[in-house]
Amino acid sequence: ASGYSLLRDPRHNKGLAFTEKERDAHYLQGLLPPAVVPQHLQVKKMIHNIRQYQVPLQKYMAMMDLQERNERLFYRLLIDNVEELLPVVYTPTVGEACQKYGSIFKQPQGLFISLKEKGKVLEVLKNWPERHIQVIVVTDGERILGLGDLGCQGMGIPVGKLALYTALGGIRPSACLPVTIDVGTNNEALLKDEFYIGLRQKRATGQEYAELMHEFMTAVKQIYGEKILVQFEDFANHNAFDLLSKYGSTHLVFNDDIQGTASVVLSGLLSAQKLVGKPLADQTYLFLGAGEAGTGIAELIALEISKQTNTPLEEARKKIWLVDSKGLIVNSRKESLQHFKKPWAHEHEPVTGLLNAVKALKPNVLIGSSGVGKTFTKDVVEAMATFNERPIILSLSNPTSQSECTAEEAYTWSKGRAIFASGSPFDPVEYEGRTFTSGQANNAYIFPGFGLGLIISGAIRVHDDMLLAASEALAAQVAEEHFAKGLLYPPFSNIRKISAEIAAKVAAKAYELGLATRLPQPENLVKYAESCMYSPAYRSYR
Ligand code: NAP
Ligand code: MN
Repeated sequence: ASGYSLLRDPRHNKGLAFTEKERDAHYLQGLLPPAVVPQHLQVKKMIHNIRQYQVPLQKYMAMMDLQERNERLFYRLLIDNVEELLPVVYTPTVGEACQKYGSIFKQPQGLFISLKEKGKVLEVLKNWPERHIQVIVVTDGERILGLGDLGCQGMGIPVGKLALYTALGGIRPSACLPVTIDVGTNNEALLKDEFYIGLRQKRATGQEYAELMHEFMTAVKQIYGEKILVQFEDFANHNAFDLLSKYGSTHLVFNDDIQGTASVVLSGLLSAQKLVGKPLADQTYLFLGAGEAGTGIAELIALEISKQTNTPLEEARKKIWLVDSKGLIVNSRKESLQHFKKPWAHEHEPVTGLLNAVKALKPNVLIGSSGVGKTFTKDVVEAMATFNERPIILSLSNPTSQSECTAEEAYTWSKGRAIFASGSPFDPVEYEGRTFTSGQANNAYIFPGFGLGLIISGAIRVHDDMLLAASEALAAQVAEEHFAKGLLYPPFSNIRKISAEIAAKVAAKAYELGLATRLPQPENLVKYAESCMYSPAYRSYR
């Protein structure tokens, strides 16, 4: 290949890092200025450039440009500055990027499969330049973060999630495939937007929807084999639960919003258990929001309680209450509830409003998973603080605009007593001369390591016990110094090590359950996981 095309191939381009010898051997003389700049200096320059931008979306676009120009530098930069850049390539900025995707869109970064491709999905998949795909993250754009239906512009999410798969979990970028299924959008503003990039029609539903999804699921297995991991991301709950149960027994599938979120929150509660000195089973839990995240988390907590205490799942579920848009989920509502809410319809008189539910149930743990911001009001947080020495409050909704409350509100209103974590990050808060650092309860802690564990063991199915194993592995990474600060999660700066630990525990569980196909089982799974991880160091071209 010519030097010119080498410089335009993001997978191989090293920019000024090409050595004299490489420049000679690959027809690069004259195409680059004389200076040879090693990767660590390129990183220094790029982070400096990115810090110049005041507007988060500009930082996002600079990062995407870099990804399309020099992939290894992009990952080096992201890995070396993960705490600073995660909010740029992921929540909250990725939310804004999706909202404006039509206008900022430059180059496709993933595969778009729309209703137009019905009947030829396999051919479309073959258009993707890479053949050795290990992970697909797929969305249909109907519930992007807490921002609702963004149609085809949801593509920002699979792209961002897969960047994290590589940066945090060490999956090779060439093995990652972002996919957006476009069946239309019900977002009127987008349908009228002249820059909208998707199909201009209302969402297809029912059989038409199911057929396209089925064609897709069949085609990915046909082309990439049994062990292709398909992660469902940001589907609306009326499809998410059905897709997971439909394909859970035939494919290696994982719904991050239901399962990944559950695993990360359970992990935080295992840590909180140590902080408040109270076992999971002795706490009462209240959720605002009874969708994918809410019921997914609730079910995994119940599973863990039932294992810890050796009680039936139905018993364990009674510790957990959920509020949806119509109020507390109680027995008298059972008939009209969606199927995923029915297990949570406990015996209680009807209660409307979160504050009334808090007062009626006196929960120890309050979890926000409604996608609606500012719903943990002063009254709610103060009530939590009246019957808990250390109320545990998790505002999971993303992006920051949808957070149930801010870190500052949680600490101020609880007079510094809340144990708080949120889905999108908040800066540390000063309150009465003390600094409070909150954690980020985000599935980004779990899915990269979880996926790595599935891949290195050659797992063919996902099992709930793997989610529990991942929760425990993450909780085990919280050190005394973190607890001392009231943190439920370790810092992201250590995330590759954490991912390797999670991967090892998930893989071990896959072997134990007979779901692993990579035989024999490696002796040291942590070392093995680490050895499998992609490194963004430049390779030399001889
Ligand atoms: P979902 O399936 O659509 O569920 C939303 C739930 O919230 C539904 O039960 C809905 O009630 C309820 N709700 C909506 N407005 C409400 C209100 N004003 N009062 C009370 N309940 C209300 O969505 P999801 O997938 O669970 O996601 C929800 C949020 O969690 C999103 O913001 C998402 O970004 C966030 N999330 C965070 C993470 C993380 O890692 N931190 C992971 C996944 C999701 P009805 O059922 O009555 O409509
Ligand atoms: Mn999601």
